[in-house]
This record gives sequence, C-alpha cells and structure tokens, in this order.
Amino acid sequence: MKASIWLGEDKFETKNVEIPKLKEDQVLVRVEKVGLCGTDVHITQGLFPSTPPKILGHEFSGVIVEVGSKIDKSNLDKRVACNTTSSCGKCENCLNWQISRCSNSVQSSGGFAEFSVMPLLSTIEIPKQMSFEVGAMTEPASCCFSGIEMIDYKNKPKILIIGAGIMGILCMLFAKQKDIDFIVVSEPNPVRRKMVKQLGADFVIDPTDKNSNKQLEELTHSIGFEICVEAVGKPNLLDYGISKLRPRGQALMIGVHPEKSNLPSDLYDFHYKEIKLFGAYGRGDYFNQTPERISNFGLDKLVSKIFSLNQINEALIATSKGEGMKYMISPNL
Ligand SMILES: [Zn+2]
Ligand SMILES: [Zn+2]
Repeated sequence: MKASIWLGEDKFETKNVEIPKLKEDQVLVRVEKVGLCGTDVHITQGLFPSTPPKILGHEFSGVIVEVGSKIDKSNLDKRVACNTTSSCGKCENCLNWQISRCSNSVQSSGGFAEFSVMPLLSTIEIPKQMSFEVGAMTEPASCCFSGIEMIDYKNKPKILIIGAGIMGILCMLFAKQKDIDFIVVSEPNPVRRKMVKQLGADFVIDPTDKNSNKQLEELTHSIGFEICVEAVGKPNLLDYGISKLRPRGQALMIGVHPEKSNLPSDLYDFHYKEIKLFGAYGRGDYFNQTPERISNFGLDKLVSKIFSLNQINEALIATSKGEGMKYMISPNL
C-alpha cells in the first residue's frame, strides 16, 4: 500500500509498504478521508511528543475491506470512523477513569496511508447519509463532546468560546444542545466568524475590535460569563477567557497548550472568584456515540480542501496558517 511516512520534523516520504497481516480480531480499513489536525502540525514542529518514523493521521474514516478470522464477515463493506487507540474495557483506567485512557491500549497505524489495520472494536459505523468527510471528524468531535460534558450547566449559563477553528465550532455545536442562555464566540478571522454564526452561535465578536470588551460587558450586564471555553491553545487567551468569568465561573481548556507553558493569570482571582479550571484531553467515553450526535450538525461545510497523499506538506502548511477550516487528505485518490 501507499503510505506517507513521517521521518521527523516536517519531512514525509510517500512510499510503498507492506499491508500489516491481520490478527484474528482485526479489520483492514481502506482509508477514505483523513483530517489534518493542529496536533499533527505540533508534532512536526516538535511541540507534541511523538517518535518517527511512523504513519501519522488520527482523524479518519473508511470502509472495512477485510476481516480477521474471528470477525463476522457481515462487517465487510461497513462505512466506519476509526479510533486509533483501542481500549480493553476491563482495566482500572477503563473502569474508573475513561476508556480513552486504557492502560492496555494499542495504537493502530495512522490514516495517512491507503489502508489501516485495527481491532474491529476501534471502528464505529457511520450513518448511511453521512459523508466520509464528516465521518473523519468523529475524532475531533468526540474530544469536544467529552470536554463539553465536563461542565456544569445549572442556571442556564452564558458561554464564551474563544476561537472559531474546528474545535471552537464543534464545542459551540455541542454546548448548543445543553440548557443554556446563549453562546458568544470570540474570533479575529472574519471568515470563521461568519461560519460559526451560520452554524448557530448567538453572538460573535472580533477581539481585535476596540469595542469588544464593552460588547461582552453589555451581553452579560457586567456580571461576566458562567463558562468560557478556550479552543485555541494559547495561554494568554485562556487568561483572557478567565478574566471574563463571573464568580464561581468555569473555564474549559479544549485547545492544546504547548508543553511547559504556564498560565499567565493572577491566582488571587482564582481564589477570590472561586474559579474552576478543567483540562480536557481526548475522547473520553464518547467516541462511539459521536457519529450519531454530529449527523445533523451540518459539518460538511467545514471542509476547506482535500489533498492527495503526496501533498501532505501543503496540507500541513494550510492547517498551520489557521485560515480555512478543515483540510483533509484522500489517500486513495
Ligand atoms: Zn486531532
Ligand atoms: Zn482498559
């Protein structure tokens, strides 16, 4: 099969490699669409730990084209979203924490290849009418789903979301399904502001506009937000969000902050205002519920461009610029 092998930094080589032999509980998935993620960009910049050489790509969808000896043949031709980490469902972490934290987890090879091999249990069928593009968004969506579930929504809260990239938009869509008052999204890029408004944000603000602070005050009657969600991964933006919270406010960190970064906040505010801060990482227990939940979100319009496997560097550059929404690769193009 053709695969794009990551060799460290921003070096990739597309070449032919053996398709791994299927174990009895595994399936072979023909990869249809694989999304580029900020984490892929961070990996190539040395900002997220990963060891080359390997096949990256953790957001993908495809079709089951071969099954291991213990898997029922009725699974053939199923359209699926793929989870690159397996979970046993029996270990301490699976039982008491989250299945995405399984201590017996096996990492399957990534989606930047024509095929990927994984346990059947790491796949979930996507709805009939769902495109492979949206199916490939199951992974990032499940991370937002899991994060948004960590928050307490009593008293119809007002929510501030910082950033209208893919994660901010997905958080907005999941938060929209809660019993809330309204959602404000802060985003400097006008194209993204338009997109998030179209998809259902109640108000959007441009944080580079001098009046934006006043707008936020008016919207919350100078009391502040119950909830802020930082969906960019910049410590100063998290601090900004926290400064907009009312007493007993809750801050959720969906954005991936660089390793060794610090929170540039006045801790007296945390103490005095009794702020709660939630880190949110990964899919939690939500991966398998996600395709159904996102099927009416209208996510098809988030796909900015689809590249071939040879164009992986272009796709990474496009992703790192933060201009479009979601860039994808179609390995079997
Ligand atoms: Zn990702
Ligand atoms: Zn486990």
